[in-house]
Order: sequence, then structure tokens, then C-alpha cells
Amino acid sequence: MNLEKELLDAFDRVVHQDHPNPERIDYPGTTVLQKLAAEPVAVQSESILAHIRRCAPCFDELKELRRRRSDQRPQIDATAQVLHRPDGKFAGKFLTRAGLIAA
Ligand SMILES: [Zn+2]
Repeated sequence: MNLEKELLDAFDRVVHQDHPNPERIDYPGTTVLQKLAAEPVAVQSESILAHIRRCAPCFDELKELRRRRSDQRPQIDATAQVLHRPDGKFAGKFLTRAGLIAA
């Protein structure tokens, strides 16, 4: 089993145990979760990520959306964002699927 999957499985258990949130209080909406599943780098809203870390139903929905996306196209394990700096060097930022929730 790879480390990323182990982290996700461990997080999965904790969020269901500690944050079941059956009423889905503060639900950000399907549109937001779909955008997060599609473009995690573009969303990067700390309040949304903080909510998902404390809401089992949203975590499940995001997981399902990402699973469906990965069924549709080749698996991408990390999203890279490369920025050009004024001095001509590259500054890279990487966001893995585990990093998204472990941040
Ligand atoms: Zn939620």
C-alpha cells in the first residue's frame, strides 16, 4: 500500500469518527466540491479545506468526485504549478491529493 493511500485511509477513519456532521452544517455546495475535485490548485480556499477536514459527508463527496474523474482519464498523482520569478528562475509548488487534506 502506498503512503498516500495510507494517509487518506487514516484520515477517512478520523473524520468519520470525530466529525460526522450529519446535518452538513456549513456545506459549501456541490459546485464548489466539483471545482475542488477538478482543479485543487485553483481553489485553495483555506476555509473550504478547513471545512472538509471537519466534515465526513463533504470528504466522502469529494472522494467520490475525484474517483469518478480518475475513472474518466489517466491518473494524475500530483498537480504541479510552476511560477516564473522575476529573476528568471522557476518556483514550483506541488499539491498531491494527500497534500490537499494534510496541508
Ligand atoms: Zn460539509
